[in-house]
Amino acid sequence: MAYSPLELSLPTLRPNLLLPAVPLADKNWFRTGGMARYFAEPVQPDEFQALLAYAGAQELPIFILGEGANILISDEGFDGLVIRPQLKEIKRTYYDDTYDLVETQAGVKFPDLITWCLENNLVGLEEFSGIPGTVGGSVFINIHYFQFLLSQYLVSAQVIEKTTGIIKAVDASWFNFGYNQSALHDGSHYLISARFKLKKVTTGEALYAKGRSTEIIRHRTSRYPTSHTCGSFFRNFHDNEVTLMSQGKKLIYVAYYLDKIGVKGTLSHGDAIVSYQHANMIVNRGKATTADIIALARTMQQLVLDAYGILPQAECRLIGFKQHPLL
Ligand SMILES: Cc1cc2nc3c(=O)[nH]c(=O)nc-3n(C[C@H](O)[C@H](O)[C@H](O)COP(=O)(O)OP(=O)(O)OC[C@H]3O[C@@H](n4cnc5c(N)ncnc54)[C@H](O)[C@@H]3O)c2cc1C
Repeated sequence: MAYSPLELSLPTLRPNLLLPAVPLADKNWFRTGGMARYFAEPVQPDEFQALLAYAGAQELPIFILGEGANILISDEGFDGLVIRPQLKEIKRTYYDDTYDLVETQAGVKFPDLITWCLENNLVGLEEFSGIPGTVGGSVFINIHYFQFLLSQYLVSAQVIEKTTGIIKAVDASWFNFGYNQSALHDGSHYLISARFKLKKVTTGEALYAKGRSTEIIRHRTSRYPTSHTCGSFFRNFHDNEVTLMSQGKKLIYVAYYLDKIGVKGTLSHGDAIVSYQHANMIVNRGKATTADIIALARTMQQLVLDAYGILPQAECRLIGFKQHPLL
């Protein structure tokens, strides 16, 4: 895609806020993909509003980018405006004698938020230690680890409406949270900030929680790849999609099926390979393109379909494709 720089004359946008033809490969965890036609990093909600107004007026498609830890960007790039919010404030307010509220803006990195909470003697979010991403991306997917879902801690939020730029306060029920699911998926609103209810503890208890956080990270590092991947590529199956049972429960883990087939550390396409640590994680060994990752993912889908009659669906968000690239 070739873009020529535009003369932009929007008085409400600060100079250099809107940049043309910006590479995205260095802004996502797979390290693949083409360019954004336009790219902007708002540092205040009003800049976010101005960018939405600009995109609306120019009829540009919009993509909100966090840390790029759960996306795969087309080699053709994104033919629209990519907004990467740099809203970074964290505030604490009183809730009651047991809990406080932490209000954090969407651009804060989740690991930084966990550190901030533990340093301020507030616990809960350390269950998500080692999961990369921003608060925006994490609320979007409702990050999960074992039995913990982020929605267990979120009490309210501020969201911005795509078409009007209006920022409104919503409570947790607005999100209609589920596994890998939130109301943000319909693309009509974006997260500005979220409020989490967290337990107040003594310094000693916070130190214990820090130790637990370190242990979770150590455990994760021994089980999963930690770079050049989007984490789990496919979502787990829903109960009604599978028939296999184990110990009275439906076998919903897509990694189980892929592992049985024997793809771990062996199945590859170009420089894209299934991780030797986890059958549901694809890793870019260095020079993979998005097309390589897609070709590998399609083979994984076909193998599960042939062996078990069920089709894995992507958990990773697919960005900038003209047509759905998977089976
Ligand atoms: C090594 C590794 C391990 C992982 N382990 C886990 C895990 O254990 N559990 C888990 O749940 N996930 C896991 N993931 C996935 C990933 O960490 C999460 O999905 C994370 O929350 C993505 O955040 P992000 O900021 O990188 O979002 P991005 O990847 O940049 O975007 C993901 C989606 O969120 C949307 N989005 C981002 N910001 C906003 C916003 N402000 N408003 C609205 N939408 C927004 C984007 O538009 C996009 O659709 C893992 C990923 C990696 C690479």
